[in-house]
Amino acid sequence: MPTKRAAAKKPSREKKRTKDSSICKSCVPARCCMYFSTEIDAPHSAKDFDDILWILAHRDVEIYTKRRRWYVMVKTPCRFFDPTRGCLIYPSRPRICRAHHPAECEFHEEYDFDLHFHSYEELERYFRLRYPK
Ligand code: SF4
Ligand code: SF4
Repeated sequence: MPTKRAAAKKPSREKKRTKDSSICKSCVPARCCMYFSTEIDAPHSAKDFDDILWILAHRDVEIYTKRRRWYVMVKTPCRFFDPTRGCLIYPSRPRICRAHHPAECEFHEEYDFDLHFHSYEELERYFRLRYPK
């Protein structure tokens, strides 16, 4: 199950520095409000891989790794995002949202994941190469 950094909403792509926050105006719906991710324990055994397969058995979930850390990405929109008004709780939005500046937007760079599993089957193939039956 997810552990450690609940705050790891966007560790996903290499950050690009830009001063231009107007990029958000053309980003509708705001992509950064459409998912969250959090770190999970890296697998070290067949049992661990099997547990991560269980995570990927659920819809709209992906797994990725970056610098040997493993993350689960849950592709679900924030309930406070309104397509026309944006963030409905902007003045009191959570700390993770406050910390996410457009200058660090992950959607203006290529993914820099080391591994990315979009489905149960993808991870299962990877898993079976390491732990043949
Ligand atoms: S920070 Fe990036 S993903 Fe979020 S609204 Fe701005 S441009 Fe879109
Ligand atoms: S609280 Fe606001 S800024 Fe944070 S994810 Fe939800 S809609 Fe986006």
